[in-house]
Amino acid sequence: MTKTFHIAGIPGDGIGPEVTAEGYKILKTIEQLDPSIAFESTEFPWGCEYYHRYGKMMDEDGIEQLKKFDAIYLGAVGYPGVPDHISLWDLLLKIRKSFDQYVNIRPIKLLEGVTSPLRAEYSDIDMLVIRENSEGEYAGAGDRLFQGTPEEVALQTGVFSRKGTERIIRYAFEEAKALNKSVTSISKGNALNYSMVFWDEVFEEVSRDYPDIPTHSYLVDAASMFFVTDPARFEVVVTSNLFGDIITDLGAGLTGGLGLAAGANINPEKTYPSMFEPIHGSAPDIAGQQKANPLAAIWSISQMLDFFGEEAWGKKVLEALEQTIADGDTLTPDMGGTATTAETGTKVASYLEEIAGK
Ligand code: ATP
Ligand code: MG
Repeated sequence: MTKTFHIAGIPGDGIGPEVTAEGYKILKTIEQLDPSIAFESTEFPWGCEYYHRYGKMMDEDGIEQLKKFDAIYLGAVGYPGVPDHISLWDLLLKIRKSFDQYVNIRPIKLLEGVTSPLRAEYSDIDMLVIRENSEGEYAGAGDRLFQGTPEEVALQTGVFSRKGTERIIRYAFEEAKALNKSVTSISKGNALNYSMVFWDEVFEEVSRDYPDIPTHSYLVDAASMFFVTDPARFEVVVTSNLFGDIITDLGAGLTGGLGLAAGANINPEKTYPSMFEPIHGSAPDIAGQQKANPLAAIWSISQMLDFFGEEAWGKKVLEALEQTIADGDTLTPDMGGTATTAETGTKVASYLEEIAGK
């Protein structure tokens, strides 16, 4: 019997359509190689062009339309001419929030053949950062007081609920259990005396349910240093919304840059669809020129396959990606090559065929 996965595609702006086209190429290849799997995708033309034409980033009932899919595959949103607070809030963040995608997963892995700015071996950097994606420092709570006076004050309140904190930490432990790895919590209890002290307490509590899993806890400042001086000590990392945002970009910088970094927004209960995306933006400077690196978008396809329970395919896609990099002759300009976006995607697809044929 064929398993069919339903995917809602939002190619979005700038290089989004170019890089996601290569992700679909990989899915097509899998369909051809494995008759037991099918992918049915529906494209939604939402984004900044849509905004210019219709005055909205997505349809009013957009969330309703997306609900029935197994996953969302997003290219990039945002373009000069549309303010970030519209492009980001009315599409990306709306989806994350409406579908309670409270887990953000970012693999930070140095692939063979990628030059890191560190003197690191590719085996030294291989971690999974689990970032809280629904509340914390980005809850949007705060105030502006005494505006226009010398006494003006801006307040930004972090919101750390027990439910929100516990579920993200528990997710990290479950992931570590499945992968047989340690869990490191990154927080800042010495300075953020309410929220992060609470975070540390919850981490401690949840860890008692997993006595066999080794744990570590670092302050975010120290963790940032160790990311650079000794990344091998991190395996599964769990952290808050703000800290996760920052350290995953640090991680991306250590492992090949934006063209390679993928991220998944997960609703673990599968009540709603989860969303997979390259973490880079729309890169207007190179849009429409076939210069964009599609490897991040392809890596997010690998994450999507894992999420579908097709881990064997997820692994093969990552292997094909690694071989393309190690091979080195079909890479985009950001990785020092001269290949187009489509040529790079085709190369990964042909390695995938080769790996699957073995
Ligand atoms: P946004 O606000 O949408 O996040 P941004 O300008 O902050 O956009 P990006 O669009 O992510 O950031 O990219 C910054 C720069 O990095 C781009 O201008 C581009 O030169 C480069 N870049 C980003 N993604 C890629 C990619 N996939 N391939 C090659 N270069 C990329
Ligand atoms: Mg950006």
